[in-house]
Order: sequence, then C-alpha cells, then structure tokens
Amino acid sequence: MIKVNDNFCKLPGSYLFSEVARRVGAYSEAHPEAKIIRMGIGDVTLPLCPSAIAAMHAAIDELTRRDTFHGYGPETGYDFLREAIAKNDYGLRGVSIELDEIFINDGAKSDTGNIGDILSHDCRIAVTDPVYPVYVDTNVMAGRAGNLEKSGCWSNIIYLPCSIENGFVPSLPQEHPDAIYLCYPNNPTGTSLSRKELTKWVEYAITNNVLLLFDSAYEAYITDGDTPHSIYEIPGAKKVAIEFRSYSKTAGFTGVRCGYTVVPKELEGRDRDGNVIGLNGLWRRRQTTKFNGASYISQRGAAALYSDSGKKEVAENIKYYMDNAKMILNSVMGLGLQAVGGVNAPYVWVKTPDGMSSWEFFDLLLEKFQIVGTPGVGFGPSGEGYFRFSAFSTREATMQAMNRIKNI
Ligand code: PLP
Repeated sequence: MIKVNDNFCKLPGSYLFSEVARRVGAYSEAHPEAKIIRMGIGDVTLPLCPSAIAAMHAAIDELTRRDTFHGYGPETGYDFLREAIAKNDYGLRGVSIELDEIFINDGAKSDTGNIGDILSHDCRIAVTDPVYPVYVDTNVMAGRAGNLEKSGCWSNIIYLPCSIENGFVPSLPQEHPDAIYLCYPNNPTGTSLSRKELTKWVEYAITNNVLLLFDSAYEAYITDGDTPHSIYEIPGAKKVAIEFRSYSKTAGFTGVRCGYTVVPKELEGRDRDGNVIGLNGLWRRRQTTKFNGASYISQRGAAALYSDSGKKEVAENIKYYMDNAKMILNSVMGLGLQAVGGVNAPYVWVKTPDGMSSWEFFDLLLEKFQIVGTPGVGFGPSGEGYFRFSAFSTREATMQAMNRIKNI
C-alpha cells in the first residue's frame, strides 16, 4: 500500500479560485455577450522591461557558445546578482547584508512555503488574518496546523485578525508563537506597517524568542516615507527575522521566476538538546540539497533591473499600477464604501456594503457590472465581509470597470 502524507488530505480544495472560476463560467455561459473585466488577478499585465529583456537575450547568447556556456550555477545564486541586491536593496538603505546571507530562488512562493523545513515540527505558527494562503497551507502540509475548525481557523495556528476595527494593524499575540508570518505591504489588504509598528514586532520577537518570517514581495510599491522597505531597517531585526523578496510584482517576473531570501548569520535557534544552531547554515544545507539554483537567464534579467535604465523602467511600471490603484481607491470611496490599501500596495481592500458577505458582493459585481474581484473570505475568516480589487489589470480595463460602477 502506498502511504500518503495525511496532512495533505486535511487541506480543503482550492475553494476560492475554483469557485470564482465556476461562477464566472456559469455567468459567461448564460450571457455570452457579456464583456467581463477581471480585477481579481494577482498577476501582472505589463510586459518585461527592455533592460531585463536585453540582459536575458544576451544570457541566452552566452549559453549558445561553448566558451561562455553556463550549466549548473551556485545553488544559492550568482554573485553578480547577490552583489547588486546587497548594494541596492540594502546598502542604499543603510543596511549591511553579506552575500552569503542572500539566497536567490525561483520566486518567493517557494521559499515562504519551504522555510518550514528548517523549523521544528512542533513550532507554533501565527499568521495575520486575512493572509496569503501559502503560509497556512504549507504548515498544514507539515502537520503544524492541527485541525480545520468550523470557524475556518486551524486549531494550532494563532490568528491575528486585521479589520477596520483595528485599522488593519494586528495586535501582538496573546498566546506564545514560535514563528510569525508578517507580509507588508500586505496581500490581500494592501495595508502597510509604519516604522513604529514594525519596531514593536521586532522588539516583541527579540524579547520572546520568536522568529519573524517577513514577506516583502510588494516593497517596491511603497510610496510613503514612514514604511520600511526591509525589516532589517529596524535595529535588532537580524537576530529575529528572515526576509523574502520577489521580482514578480516588482518587474513582471511572474513568468520568468526569480526572487531571493535573506537569512542573516546572526539568526540563531536551538535544537532539542539546547545547542545553538545558526539558521543561515540550516537554510544553506536545505537549499543545496533540495534546490539547484534559479536559471542563469532569469538571474541575468534580475541583475539588469538594478542598472540605471532598469531602475527607471521598473519605476515606470510600478507607477502605472499604482495609478490604477489610486483610481480604484478613489472610485470605491466615492461610492461611499470603506476601503484601504492602494497607497503602498497594488491591492484595494473594500468593506462590502450593507453587511453583505464577500460572496454576495462578488455575485452583485459580476451580475450587475460584469466585474470579477476576489472575495475576501478566501484569504481567511477575518476576510469575510471584504473584497479585494487588484490594480494589475490594464489601465483601460481598470477605467472601464470603475466607469461601470460609477454609472450605475
Ligand atoms: N508573497 C506574497 C504576499 C504574494 O502575494 C505572492 C504572489 O502573489 C508571493 C509571495 C509569490 O510571489 P512569487 O511570484 O515570487 O513566487
């Protein structure tokens, strides 16, 4: 008999996106003439920027010649990219990160999902709620989550609700977690944490021996001066935090696949005998065993984003999406709806009107306006009664969608 990992069987199916697809499919079939606008996607719509394209073309040319061919690269990434990261993403912000603290990957989803490999089986996990589902589901797979309760919460996970009531700023946990996932700027709420707030979390983690798993996949969208781009801008964070970054939303690399994780050498844990163990070494061991490196081509493309032209092109693309976000935010607020996000992140999180559930609001938008968004409840129990609009559609589609809402 083939014995499977029972933990996987605990996971409900991907209810959210399959249900979205089912409802949109049924509507299209009944109304074949309807021009549906999709604003639920987390994928980008602009093509790659010219600097990255040129660098990747050049990389392919290198691979065509025997004398410049590259086979397996270093599992943790090429130095040309790690140097650019250390200098631009950290050095320019006054943070010193060494090259062997940077691990290049094929995108942040892999590492935010895989990081649990180096944590003890009985680590207690905390998540903000609503949340990027990968953090919860991978801990279910690892057997850390307990059982799914009727409330939609997993019995062993500590949930930190974020809602209009607390201004989407999570409170420190009442129970003691071993690791906390923080995603700022946040998907799905589009909110960010101020320097003061983030400092509170770092200090809590230092005092209570808690690991912070800080996902800053959307840091490039930060527009205000009071929101840290990296958790390492907060003093002491290198002792308690791992940071995940991605080029997906920054530079349209959702299909190219490249990102990185920073595991500082100061970060230490203990084994069951109480011996001090460096997390950097553990993660290196994990990566060199289970991962053979991101492709040379994508790493060359990522490195080109740090050139003067690359930086300018990335900034233009981000402005394009953030102009969409501004338009969405203004439109929904103009309708009298309560909404957050859209300032430091490409998502606008809207409170549904008149106590409607997330799915009732989804149906209303689809049926009356032919607009598809994402029901907030799909991101966790505290997402019920909310709805996510993505700013990653084209300008035309975003304008059209907002016009539809305004006109009716
Ligand atoms: N982290 C967050 C919060 C995300 O929203 C996403 C993608 O939507 C990812 C990570 C994954 O990004 P990547 O494409 O780098 O795997």
